[in-house]
Amino acid sequence: MDFSQLRAQFPTLEQTLAGYPLCYLDTAATSQKPKQVIAAMTRYYETDNANVHRAAHQLSSRATSQYEAVRDSLTYFIHAKQREEIIFTHGTTESINMVAHGLTGQIKAGDLILIDTAAHHANIVPWQELAKRTGAIIKPIPLTEECRLDEAAFDALLLEKPAIVALSHVSNALGTLNPVSDLVARAKRAGALTLVDGAQAIAHLEVNVQALDCDFYVFSAHKMYGPTGVGVLYGRFDILDTLAPLITGGEMIKTVSFEATQFNLLPNRLEAGTPPIAEVIGLGAAIDFINALPRADIAKQEAELLHYLQTQLKQLGDITLYGANDNNIGAVAFNLADEHHQDVGILLDQQGIAVRCGHHCAMPLMQSLGIKGCCRASLGIYSSKEDIDRFIDALKSVKDMLL
Ligand code: PMP
Repeated sequence: MDFSQLRAQFPTLEQTLAGYPLCYLDTAATSQKPKQVIAAMTRYYETDNANVHRAAHQLSSRATSQYEAVRDSLTYFIHAKQREEIIFTHGTTESINMVAHGLTGQIKAGDLILIDTAAHHANIVPWQELAKRTGAIIKPIPLTEECRLDEAAFDALLLEKPAIVALSHVSNALGTLNPVSDLVARAKRAGALTLVDGAQAIAHLEVNVQALDCDFYVFSAHKMYGPTGVGVLYGRFDILDTLAPLITGGEMIKTVSFEATQFNLLPNRLEAGTPPIAEVIGLGAAIDFINALPRADIAKQEAELLHYLQTQLKQLGDITLYGANDNNIGAVAFNLADEHHQDVGILLDQQGIAVRCGHHCAMPLMQSLGIKGCCRASLGIYSSKEDIDRFIDALKSVKDMLL
């Protein structure tokens, strides 16, 4: 693989900030977009723009066939059993809300919902709202010292027969990887419905939802080199089919009268209103882009790069790393001595280095680590050893300035 050619596909990376070439280490927040994704969306608006599903005219049928072709690509991409199991949403957040809302009638007072402590707020708050509506109880699954999910504690919680187990595949704040296939199997033996938040996994790992055997798997296009504004809810057909729709209106109905409305079949039943058509088409281009890459080589390269990043940070001194395990994916979380993470982030930015600082939408995780926040450097397929060297040099100068 010619790395410089791959990197050249990302126009945003070819810029300088305050005289420094951009060093983008914030892919976990959102990835940069390759030219072919941008071109696919522009092409749709320039040549095929029409609403999907509705009209008899040719433009609409072109838009519809492109939109529906992405559902097929996704079916293969995550190895779903059938295309009706793929629902387009506006992102991971909406996907989880759709599940948590959709299960309302199936959850009763006292039912238990287990959530891993490292979960993103998007995988916490919708369940809290479900608990408010139903009287269900939420319990966090604790972490070990290494910030891994505590499997012994998980097994003990499973004895309480939870109704729902919500897990992150990869933690956005730390990059820690959950052994989800094993955890899902245990949760299912205990009779729970399982949701896996794949927002941070989908760009890095090959996901096979049938092998994972989870009931729901959710992710956003913008973390996998696609556009913002579109995401995916995968659900096992028989369970997806029982979800009450979060959003109702046009497109999701078979018949409407003022007396009664009959809902449509999946997937339309869960896709009310005009969908984000250009964004779905952009997501299709992102899948084509990823599919054309040698994924095993990329995964190996990403793992080596992350290991290099972890090692360099450790060698710098005065750095606290959080949950920096060997099999982490794509990100490293750290603080510089007692310095405020935001100060560190701003000083790095002045040298063209983009990292994220804050609680990373994982306040319960930050509380369990005993911190208010931290800095996170995260990698994408365009990240290089040079990026990491520049970041470490910049961090050295920040250290000299502050300590
Ligand atoms: N879960 C995880 C693990 C994430 O990293 C993110 C995005 N930071 C989300 C959920 C929410 O995704 P979105 O904002 O695209 O809905």
